[in-house]
Amino acid sequence: AFQSIDLVPPDIQFDITRRFLADSNNDKINLGQGAYRDENGQPWVLPSVKMAKAELGEFGHEYLPILGLKSFRDEATRLLYKGTRAFTENRIASCQSISGTGALILAALSLKRLHSAPDSIYITSPTWVNHQMMFSTIGYQVKELPYYKDGAFDFDAFTAALGQAKPGSTVVLHTCAHNPTGCDPSKIQWKAIGSIMKERGLFPIFDSAYLGFNSGSFHDDAWPIRYFLDELNVELAVCLSMAKNMGLYGDRVGLVSFATLSQDTAQIAESVMQNVQRSTITTPPAYGARLASIVLSTPAIREQWQKDLLTMSGRIKSMRKRLYDELILLETPGDWSCIITQSGMFAFLGISKTQIHHLEKKHHVFMVETSRMSVAGLNENNVQRFAKALDETVRN
Ligand code: PLP
Repeated sequence: AFQSIDLVPPDIQFDITRRFLADSNNDKINLGQGAYRDENGQPWVLPSVKMAKAELGEFGHEYLPILGLKSFRDEATRLLYKGTRAFTENRIASCQSISGTGALILAALSLKRLHSAPDSIYITSPTWVNHQMMFSTIGYQVKELPYYKDGAFDFDAFTAALGQAKPGSTVVLHTCAHNPTGCDPSKIQWKAIGSIMKERGLFPIFDSAYLGFNSGSFHDDAWPIRYFLDELNVELAVCLSMAKNMGLYGDRVGLVSFATLSQDTAQIAESVMQNVQRSTITTPPAYGARLASIVLSTPAIREQWQKDLLTMSGRIKSMRKRLYDELILLETPGDWSCIITQSGMFAFLGISKTQIHHLEKKHHVFMVETSRMSVAGLNENNVQRFAKALDETVRN
């Protein structure tokens, strides 16, 4: 059956990790994968997650309900929405998902069930590589909104294009720490974006894969969601991933939620998600959700988690500064201020594909061809070497 189709090339991001692992050089540096690394360049099991594991004890292996682990859904919903009118008035539908990816698929599939089902979905350009692929796979026309120019968010181009978007369509917004650019709208810009969306009846999906990575506070980073709810009083979806902010990458813990305008509608939305979940994966995985639920519901562990978020976001911030200072010291040609003005896990360097290939071939530095670097891959042991490699590359 497969003779008639072409070989599909490997996923560009996962392939960087494969090439990195296959490289035998001792000084190799991986800035490709969007996963946090500690000061020794190693994956980090969060102390809060270790505490939760100790609390977990014995548990069986029964299926979770279709909507997922109730305690996780409740805790994650409270985490995102507490203090909003939608939360107080019980207007939120939620469903546990297979991390952020599963949440986006569930949200987009659920929206397809509406009578006025949108056929278009708007994403930012550039965006996380999977957006285009995942939404077109499930039958949406995927359209792009220009997002980035010269190291910063291109507010004028973005809002001009948003103002032309087809009314009733869905728009995927990155709540914080935009992937890949590291550039987010300011609060004033968010307000303008919100007004345009409300005016045109555009439905926001807040893709929330990095809450806590900008400021170190989950709550502060989730501000745009609360603004849209309380000040604009619109319906929206939030696709939450606990992969990065709890370091539960492989355990696939996420939540999709819809904030609606009435309790009845929330019930309908939840029933739709339940049906979509059943017809796609039946029920979500249990282990990571159990851990996340313990982290969020146990005051001492939750306090530790808040410290863990500060550790991760703080280390990334200090590495931005270290890299920037090294480049200034080397007088590397170009303006590198974007490294410290951008935030979250990524910096978008704006160097060419040829330069990226040179970095990999000559210096054993691995990063995505778009020039996105995962700042979390830097540490005291490799930041100087990377700065020198970058310096040599741009002078080349
Ligand atoms: N959304 C964005 C913008 C991302 O960068 C990612 C992961 O890199 C995800 C969603 C989903 O990640 P996961 O499925 O691992 O939670």
